[in-house]
This record gives sequence, C-alpha cells and structure tokens, in this order.
Amino acid sequence: MKRIMTRSLVLWFITFAFLGGMVYLGGKTIWFHNDWVQQPFNGHMNTAGGLGKAGKIYDRNNLTLAYSENDERHYSDDQTTREALLHVVGDGTLNISTAVQSRYRTSLSGYNFILGAGIPDSLRPNSDVKLTVDAAACRAAYAAMDGHKGCCVVYNYRTGEVLCDTSTPSYDPAAPPQITEENMSDYDGVYLDNVVSSRFTPGSVFKIITAAAAIENIPDIDRMSFECGGSLDVEGNPITCESAHGTQSFSEAFANSCNCAFAQIAIQVGADQMKATAEKLGFNNDSFRMSDVPLVTSHYDATGAGDNYLAWSGIGQYEDLANPMLMAMICSCVANGGTATSPYIVSDDGNLVDKLNITVNKSKDVEMLASGTAARLRELMKGSAESYAYRGVSLAGLDFYAKTGTAEVGQDKEPTAWFVGFTNDEKHPYAFAAVVTEGGYGITAASPVVEAAIGALVNGK
Ligand SMILES: [Zn+2]
Repeated sequence: MKRIMTRSLVLWFITFAFLGGMVYLGGKTIWFHNDWVQQPFNGHMNTAGGLGKAGKIYDRNNLTLAYSENDERHYSDDQTTREALLHVVGDGTLNISTAVQSRYRTSLSGYNFILGAGIPDSLRPNSDVKLTVDAAACRAAYAAMDGHKGCCVVYNYRTGEVLCDTSTPSYDPAAPPQITEENMSDYDGVYLDNVVSSRFTPGSVFKIITAAAAIENIPDIDRMSFECGGSLDVEGNPITCESAHGTQSFSEAFANSCNCAFAQIAIQVGADQMKATAEKLGFNNDSFRMSDVPLVTSHYDATGAGDNYLAWSGIGQYEDLANPMLMAMICSCVANGGTATSPYIVSDDGNLVDKLNITVNKSKDVEMLASGTAARLRELMKGSAESYAYRGVSLAGLDFYAKTGTAEVGQDKEPTAWFVGFTNDEKHPYAFAAVVTEGGYGITAASPVVEAAIGALVNGK
C-alpha cells in the first residue's frame, strides 16, 4: 500500500512538473517572442542582419536614412549622413545596441507572432519609422567634431524631440569595418552612442550643479564675495585658476568660471547637500531614458572624501562623471523653470508607431528644481553666455544661455571640452550638450559643434 502511494505521489509530481514547464515555455514564447525571433540562430531573420525586408527609416523632414531592396539593406546616398547618423540608425551588424535598427529590429521587419517572420510581402505591414532627428543638423555637428571622439545632442525642451544626436568615432554602415588589433584605437568605443551610453569628466559644466546647491543651501550667497589670487590651498593641495580673478560676486565667479570660488562654495555647502542637489538633477539615478533607451548613470559622491576632494568635486573633477544627454536635460530644466523635459527620438507622427508597437512615448518630464533656483541659474548662465558671445560664439543669432567646461583627464592628455546650455526662442527652443574629448578648451573645441548643429536647424543645410 505504502509503495503504491509513493508511486502515485511521484507520478503526480511528474505530471505537475510537466504541466508547469509547458505553461512556463508557452508563456515565455508569448511574452518574449520579440527576443526569441531576434536570436542569431533564427535563419529567417538573418539576411542583411534580419533587415532585408525591414521598413524605411526617415528623418524628421522625410529624408530616407535606411531602406530595404531585394533583401538588402541600404542607407543614405551621402556618406557623411550615413556616418553622422550611424549611432541613431544602426547597421546590419547590430553591434550598436541602442540604435533604432537593433532595438526595434523585430518591429521594423514586420514580424508577427501568429504569422512569424516568413510573412508574405503582400501581408507585410507597413513598418516604416520616422525619427525626430534632423539629418542636416547631425551632419553639421559630425563634421564640426573634426575627427575627435565625443558627441553632440540638441533637443527641443518644449516637446522633447531629439533633433541632433551624433557620436564619434563612427564608420560607414554601408561598409562596416573589420576591427583588428592594428586599427582598434581608431574605433575605441565605436559601438557606443556617446549621447546616451557614455559619461565623461564634466569639469566646469558641473558648476551649474554646484551653483544650484549654493542657491538652495547658502541663503546669503548673492551677498558674498570671493577672493581669487589664482590659487587656493585646500588641505595642502592647490586648486588653481588660469589667472587671478580678484574680488568677485557669486555671479561674476560663475561667469569667470572661477575654480577658487567654486571650491570654497562646495566646501561651504558640504558633501551631503552637494550630493543631494546632484541627485535632484539626475546624478546617481538610472531611471532616465531617451525614448526607451536608458541613459548611463551619471556619478557624483564626495561624502567622506575630505575637503580637498570635495573642493575638486565642486568644480567637476574628482570622481564626477556626467552623461551628455543628462547635461542637456539639466539645461532644459533651467530653461523650463525647474522641470526637465524627457527626450525621445522615434517620432510620434502618424499611426505607424502604434502598429509597430514601439515604445516611443517619452518618459514623464522630471521636476528637478524649485522655480526660484532655476530662475537664478538662468541669470548665471546668461552672464557666462554673454562672455562667450563677446568672444565670438553665436548660435545662429539666437538668445542663448550656456556654460563651457574644460575637464582635466590626466597629465598626458588634452582636456575634455564641453559646451552645454539652451536657446531662448519661441521657434527654436533648444537644449544642448557637446563633448569633444582631447579637444582642449570648451569654448574653442566644443562650442563650434553646437554652433554647427543649431546653425543647420535654424538656417537649413
Ligand atoms: Zn579664479
């Protein structure tokens, strides 16, 4: 009797395990069919990287960026356009995981759960995609990078549409390179869209964050004055400026980008409040997105590091790391009175997007700062922009607000150049960030990239 019961229990156990397994497998097939169909072993999807029958990709002006013909994937006729938009559009290798062709390959290919990938052409849904980017702006920024590694992003801070997203180094998607040990250094980081997937030492663009912390934590900051003799000793280690700035107000110290003043400000605010403000502005936070592409997490933390490192962190050095898209979002927060617009890159124009089941909906806008803090930052960024305008920077003649950065990244390397800010114009409300590594000064190396992009957006071509 006992033996029969044991056998019966074992049989029941096996039956349940089998049924459970079936439910699990069935569920997985339904919920994750998009992932399954994209596996490299799926022979149906493998012609032209699975893109042999994929839909067209257009820019915002209906310029064709990619299309399929005779089971082959083709790109723009113009090589600069192909290279400038590589990281947005992608290529047949699918190595750039954040690119539209990699991310939405299944939808672009017209794959259907019931009919599968071998769907007849006559039944294949229209799977064309329109992007928010302007190819001419991407091309102009790409050319202005002048062979340097880095990126440029410009987006509309009212709507969230990304207009320019270009990343370097790049290559021609019509002829992806064989990367070998010899040419590897030319292609360092080539599969990353630096706009979303990279973070860089911010240098003085981080003074926007330090200034926000000062406005919120030092009530009499605008009545204080800061002495700069060109060098400030903090715990036996000097923090230096290019030249002595003399006696300055808070606004003047920001416009002068005075390291000595901002080192003192960071120490006075303290590590905990510095971190709290940085986190309000999106640092140490992995929840930010461009469409549904996650932004790499920007880093700020000087707690327990001592005054010297705290001082360096306040001027964007130490362990600070900033993602370019996040910096553009912070500028959008200043432009919008405290709320950062979330960016998106797949256009919500037309009904194709619903059919394709692509997550284009931009994330919720993010309230970062009190409106008073944003208004004060706006004044500060106007002061610095006036000094750049005086030195010849022009964003297609638009009213603009900005901050440069020249981040030290090691003794044998040229600094990383930054230019971030926004334009104040009804028709052209743009927030931007450009990074040029080993570029030198922000004002000479990074501002021309933004000038080129915005020039193309405003004037066409
Ligand atoms: Zn100074």
